[in-house]
Amino acid sequence: MQNILIIEDEKNLARFVELELKHEGMKTEVHLDGRTGLEAALDEEKDWDLILLDLMLPELNGLDVARRIRQVSNVPIMMMTARDSTIDQVSGFDHGADDYITKPFEIEELLARIRALGRRIDIENEKNRVQQTTLTYRDLVVEKENRVIRRDNEIIELTKREYELLVELMSNLNVVLSRELLLNKVWEYDKEVETNIVDVYIRYLRNKLDKPGEESYIQTVRGMGYVMRT
Ligand code: CA
Repeated sequence: MQNILIIEDEKNLARFVELELKHEGMKTEVHLDGRTGLEAALDEEKDWDLILLDLMLPELNGLDVARRIRQVSNVPIMMMTARDSTIDQVSGFDHGADDYITKPFEIEELLARIRALGRRIDIENEKNRVQQTTLTYRDLVVEKENRVIRRDNEIIELTKREYELLVELMSNLNVVLSRELLLNKVWEYDKEVETNIVDVYIRYLRNKLDKPGEESYIQTVRGMGYVMRT
């Protein structure tokens, strides 16, 4: 949380918050009405980490500003509201606020909430990153970033084609993938290869992955293709 936009029409409060945040080493910009505040919020070059947004603002109120920001951006928004009612809070969240603070507040409370929001966002980003780079099916885990496949925490060595075939199947759980589609995805329209190469590689994969006496990880759908079903 380094770059913070303050949209607040009470000049003294805005100035006080700005000084305190600057004292903490943050960069700030203050706007005293909803319209110019929204313009600043939508300015991509500013690259905001957080928007502190008053609820009652001239020109355009805080809820409208939040709603308009949310149409184009996921930047964290903390609402500042003088009215401590559940309805206001819920309606603030409905419009896309991530947190709220009720005026009057101690500056320490604001700083603590900014830090907490920053941590929450770091954790969410990390979760999203892991979700995008990790595939799981039963006890199989594929870590795409380092191309490691684990079964029950044991590392399984695969060739490049086997790996790509497995990733294709695990990225499409419960979807039956035809031999032609797998051929196009994994072998990339290589006209030299026959469609039965897919069957051959499925067999290689099963030999490496499957446990004796247990159901195969990859199911054959006769006449259609292959699927990993949950
Ligand atoms: Ca106000």
